[in-house]
Amino acid sequence: MKPALPRRVVVVGAGFAGTMLSAHLVRAVAERAAGVSVTLLDASGGIGLGEAYRTVNPSHLLNVRARAMSAFPEAPDDFVQWLADRLGADAPGPDDFAPRMLYARYLRDRFDAAMALAPGALTRRTGAAVDIVPSAGGLRVWQADGHVLDADAVALCVGNAAAAPVTGTVAATADQPGWIVDPWAPDAFAQVAPTDPVLVLGTGLSMVDAILSLDDVGHRDPILALSRRGLVPTRHADRPEPPLPLAGPAPIGWSASRLVRHVRAALRDAQARGADWRPIVDGLRPITQDLWQGASLGDRARLLRHLRPIWDVHRHRIAPAAADRLDAIRAQGRLRIAAGRVVSLGPGTPDGFTLVWRPRGADRPQAWTSRIVVNCTGPASALEGGAHPLLQAIVRQGLARPDPLGLGIETGDGGAVIDASGRPSDRLFALGPPDRGRAWETTAVPDIRRQVAELAAWITGPR
Ligand SMILES: Cc1cc2nc3c(=O)[nH]c(=O)nc-3n(C[C@H](O)[C@H](O)[C@H](O)COP(=O)(O)OP(=O)(O)OC[C@H]3O[C@@H](n4cnc5c(N)ncnc54)[C@H](O)[C@@H]3O)c2cc1C
Repeated sequence: MKPALPRRVVVVGAGFAGTMLSAHLVRAVAERAAGVSVTLLDASGGIGLGEAYRTVNPSHLLNVRARAMSAFPEAPDDFVQWLADRLGADAPGPDDFAPRMLYARYLRDRFDAAMALAPGALTRRTGAAVDIVPSAGGLRVWQADGHVLDADAVALCVGNAAAAPVTGTVAATADQPGWIVDPWAPDAFAQVAPTDPVLVLGTGLSMVDAILSLDDVGHRDPILALSRRGLVPTRHADRPEPPLPLAGPAPIGWSASRLVRHVRAALRDAQARGADWRPIVDGLRPITQDLWQGASLGDRARLLRHLRPIWDVHRHRIAPAAADRLDAIRAQGRLRIAAGRVVSLGPGTPDGFTLVWRPRGADRPQAWTSRIVVNCTGPASALEGGAHPLLQAIVRQGLARPDPLGLGIETGDGGAVIDASGRPSDRLFALGPPDRGRAWETTAVPDIRRQVAELAAWITGPR
């Protein structure tokens, strides 16, 4: 028997995924008289902001060209059109990388437009969901303040976990003034003086934002940015080229080593022809989820261990304008990017931090003293420590179980959360980063928007 259509839907999280899922559901109420009432619950109270788009610094750019950032898979030009309508002649074009704060305004506009179609179909609440328990015929969502929401279906759109704690950090160091845990907070760098030594932990996309923010507040030098491999996101080409699919049949189901050899050969071939490598990486994108799902568990683990850092810096690239600024700051000697491990990090001096670190491949550790530390280590694994209390709670309840590689929670088709006994739920769904174990590439808008549209269509029927 097919499950009944849910009437009460609770969407937890109002970043990109939760905001757009809510918009789709409310549009279905207006356009097809879908009988759903939606409650949208977000810990921060924002709409469409989430980790990615809440920055108010115009230097923080999207890392995807505007033409690929429509919130709606069926209307690929929607964001570009919105930019043109809103900004006229000053609008970034389809191949430009718009400021992320503009993208937040776009999502908010699209959300508001959907709400206007069916006033009363959605209720907004501010607060953190801390637990979900089964109730008679449905699910009950507990908020931190004790409020409960009864639901027939719950969509977990909770994004990434908080930044991982830094191994080797002496207790209470992160509570000391000068430790910046949120590089996107509006006044995060206001306290930094031009010649304060700064340590940035991590050298990925968040590091790029942090360095640009430091530059914006007039910081001169020195900055040490440290990660295990010292890999920095690569830059997008100035002019986009179309993706280039691999020659021959898609290598789905191949072993990790055969797949890597195949891709390397294609990259070498491009190099020999004097062609760019980016179209080859982009050509993998439409089949990334199939490659991931076709790989054995052992091969997935190997890909994660050996290839993930390299994949991340080539696949998640930065806008040329951001790359130019980063290059200039490095060329001026203000920023050193290093590969190595933190041996210890503690208070050390009355108004600073002492880092002891071991450069990659070296025997002897080095010391560095800084007044500011910025944690750009990226999200913790969702089910470790206190990283994602709600996901941990539903695993404890048996409503979910970790995916075998610990990337998030295990899900089935359509993001259906799989419970402790292995059964996919028809009430509890996960979209975006928590679904990474199944789909791998579920972090960017072009991936999540499809999941969102499919789940909204499923929830509102027809069955
Ligand atoms: C800095 C940064 C830049 C990025 N830039 C791009 C880009 O340019 N292009 C692109 O395509 N992708 C980008 N991404 C990827 C980004 O993750 C996705 O685009 C998308 O924003 C993810 O949306 P989400 O809704 O899944 O998660 P998020 O946007 O992180 O939203 C999660 C929301 O859930 C809420 N929440 C979490 N837990 C709870 C709880 N227990 N109770 C209630 N509310 C809760 C949070 O408050 C938050 O609002 C970027 C990511 C980051 C971190």
